Amino acid sequence: MRLLVVEDDPDLNRQITAALEEAGYAVDRAFDGEEGHFLGDTEPYDAIVLDIGLPKMDGISVLEQWRRDGKTTPVLILTARDRWSDKVQGFDAGADDYVPKPFHMEEILARLRALLRRASGHASSELLCGPVRLDTRAGRVTIDGRAVKLTSHEYRLLAYLMHHQGRVVSRTELVEHLYDQDFDRDSNTIEVFVGRLRKKLGADVIQTVRGLGYVLAPPEAA
Ligand code: CA
Repeated sequence: MRLLVVEDDPDLNRQITAALEEAGYAVDRAFDGEEGHFLGDTEPYDAIVLDIGLPKMDGISVLEQWRRDGKTTPVLILTARDRWSDKVQGFDAGADDYVPKPFHMEEILARLRALLRRASGHASSELLCGPVRLDTRAGRVTIDGRAVKLTSHEYRLLAYLMHHQGRVVSRTELVEHLYDQDFDRDSNTIEVFVGRLRKKLGADVIQTVRGLGYVLAPPEAA
């Protein structure tokens, strides 16, 4: 999953970004409203953390513009403490959730997990696919109850496929959603990671759809 953080306070931006990367997300960052708007407009993020008080273009305007342009990406806004009007304006502008400052990082992480799973139609923080179970809260994967050790890139790839199970996901889509914009992107590496996941999870968990991409499907649907 790839996220965007738009926050002008450099320390806070760094803290949020570090926590999200630690949790296994690919993260891009912006420090003002214009840059944030541009990135959200041009890159396919899975969710966006958007501060309301931003230089050059305020967060509400950024959000309104995205929604006017038809962007449906889940957006979590950061509001000033005790500014109830921020929250009302934020929701009216198209926000999906908010966290007031100051906040505990755990709350941001939990709310983002909820937004991401709802956006892909899942209600539980544990995603299941046949024998594979992915606990998005703990970042843990088991197969038939046995813990499987994955690298952060393998986990990211599996988490994306688990969120979108039953649908064919192209390699381009995977590259766009697994790596941040500064990463040296190469769709061949996806093939390598799929190969490693198959070794760890079983050969038939991730299926190749020739010419189209990959699909993760439970055995009965395969
Ligand atoms: Ca701010």
